[in-house]
Amino acid sequence: MKLSPVSIALSRCAKTFHGTRVLEPIDLTIGAGETLVLLGPSGCGKTTTLRLIAGLEMPDAGGTVSFGEDDVTHLPIERRQVGMVFQRDALFPNLNVRQNVGYSLKIAKVEPTLARRRVDELLAMMQLDAHGDKPIDQLSGGQRQRVALARALAREPRVLLLDEPLTALDARLRDTLRREMNALLRGLGVTTVYVTHDRAEAMELGERIVVMSAGRIEQIDTPRDIYYRPANRHVAQTVGTINRLAGQWRLGSLMTTGGTLSVPQALAGNGDGEIFFRPEDARLVEPNHASLVGIVDGVVFLGERTRVTVSGAAPEALIIDAAGRIELARGQAVGIEIAEHGLIVLT
Ligand code: ATP
Repeated sequence: MKLSPVSIALSRCAKTFHGTRVLEPIDLTIGAGETLVLLGPSGCGKTTTLRLIAGLEMPDAGGTVSFGEDDVTHLPIERRQVGMVFQRDALFPNLNVRQNVGYSLKIAKVEPTLARRRVDELLAMMQLDAHGDKPIDQLSGGQRQRVALARALAREPRVLLLDEPLTALDARLRDTLRREMNALLRGLGVTTVYVTHDRAEAMELGERIVVMSAGRIEQIDTPRDIYYRPANRHVAQTVGTINRLAGQWRLGSLMTTGGTLSVPQALAGNGDGEIFFRPEDARLVEPNHASLVGIVDGVVFLGERTRVTVSGAAPEALIIDAAGRIELARGQAVGIEIAEHGLIVLT
């Protein structure tokens, strides 16, 4: 299947509903063929942004949406060549799988042999070949979402828009489909905007991630940079757990409740201060000569790692991920060593 991806540009796009501004003016460009993920908590404006791209909403005056060189701000959805998949599939219950996938081709009066070939190709791509004649209500949740995706691709869209397409599925199926979706999107090379509040989905699928909060874009970056170089604390927390060490700076070291941490000169400050690190960037060691010491407050065995809560080392409890067959008891004293490269300064 050959698709002609197009770049997308939103310029000063804001959205107000009934006098309440839910989206502040945003600028956003998406490369042709890129998969961009919009990530953020419920109500932060992800779906509204997606609907602006789809043509289901108009931006407030002054905002524009372009596909490549075309200004599509005033074009309705049916003239934008977009394919959409929603959280719940909205398939036609009275049509079978094949008829659902081919519906838009029929409406567009695509020549029947060509339409049949396209539907066959899509069913094969989604591993639905054996289910073409089944009624929709005989499919599993994962199969239904694959039908929805096939249907969205039938008219060879320039842009694919996915709004939490995996959220309604159970955890195992979600993992499998996420992997399949990743392979599929890379293979198709279609420009894709994917909305989710699930950080694992965002990390795996996004070439770049847009972290949103309260109608604003907080950061746009690769998953790696969002994770290791978050722009602020909200971004850091959106993509993973982050620990805060608060204390006072003294001669380039941070003095905190459980000891003194020396840090690279470039990160050190003056007066009251704080520094952050991720659970996997620290190690639990013998307390005797450790720079920070605390007490084990909780231990959760997660199989490939053990998540340990340590209190007393800093004003707030710290979460440390220990690898290997470590055995710890609540109340035990532990030392903490934090890798220098794992220290993060946040605003
Ligand atoms: P979720 O993950 O829950 O879907 P979201 O980040 O996609 O959240 P939006 O659906 O974009 O958020 O909604 C942003 C805000 O705009 C919310 O406060 C919502 O209630 C409001 N909103 C969205 N659509 C409308 C509408 N048609 N009329 C009035 N308010 C709306």
